[in-house]
Amino acid sequence: MFQLQNVSKHYNGIDALKSISFLIPNNSTTVLIGPSGCGKSTVLRLMVGLVVQDAGKVMFNKEEISQSNILNFRRKIGYVIQEGGLFPHMSVKQNISLMAEYLKQSPDEIQSRISFLCELTQFPSNRLDAYPVQLSGGQKQRVSLMRALMLDPEVLLLDEPLGALDPMVRSKMQRELKHIFQDLDKTVIMVTHDIGEAAFFGDSIVLMNEGAVIQHGTMTELLEAPNDQFVEDFINAQRNSLNSMRGKFP
Ligand code: ADP
Ligand code: MG
Repeated sequence: MFQLQNVSKHYNGIDALKSISFLIPNNSTTVLIGPSGCGKSTVLRLMVGLVVQDAGKVMFNKEEISQSNILNFRRKIGYVIQEGGLFPHMSVKQNISLMAEYLKQSPDEIQSRISFLCELTQFPSNRLDAYPVQLSGGQKQRVSLMRALMLDPEVLLLDEPLGALDPMVRSKMQRELKHIFQDLDKTVIMVTHDIGEAAFFGDSIVLMNEGAVIQHGTMTELLEAPNDQFVEDFINAQRNSLNSMRGKFP
């Protein structure tokens, strides 16, 4: 699936990514985690070609992504940006079907995909004509997810998808989202800054700090064999969140 090889990215003097490398396994969920500003969103933006690296390679299915071929890959990648990114002037249905309309899919095909997605994400189909501002936080997240899944992508990228939700809704959406990932059986890459959420979702976890990958492994490996003091410090700082997930991850 995705592979990063010695990828660096600078923004006027800031080293957002410092020669990072990792491989994302297929048909499992990989969580990118680390403190705010460590480069998580930049990694996702590289994968969809919104940002171009200064050095190194980003590969998708063993092919190097470049500005000339990114559009070939783009349809195979569903992307939920941080804060959802719904178009406020478009209804739910228009937001979801935008790309499918652009690709001239038939109205029947679009309608049947939307019905499937409403069922999958448990979005009430009688709210398809609503505008984003009329929806609850949880509903907006369902719409962002439906939009990312509309073209049945091979891989789903989610940037802090539950970050803006209040704790009760967040906990409910965590359980639902996990079921959705299991139903879909796709490759999922999810960004979070919450260690409990990483433990709950991540088959493997990439822990980053200051533009570098500190450790890539299972939650159990990070807990039992931290390879840096930062790993222990990061986990200890969020012990409560991790403990709240005890028994919910392997
Ligand atoms: P995270 O998602 O982990 O919070 P980001 O990937 O958004 O971090 O950002 C990594 C670093 O790069 C931060 O220091 C951020 O300020 C900087 N950065 C990200 N995007 C830009 C940009 N477009 N211009 C300048 N600096 C940026
Ligand atoms: Mg971010």
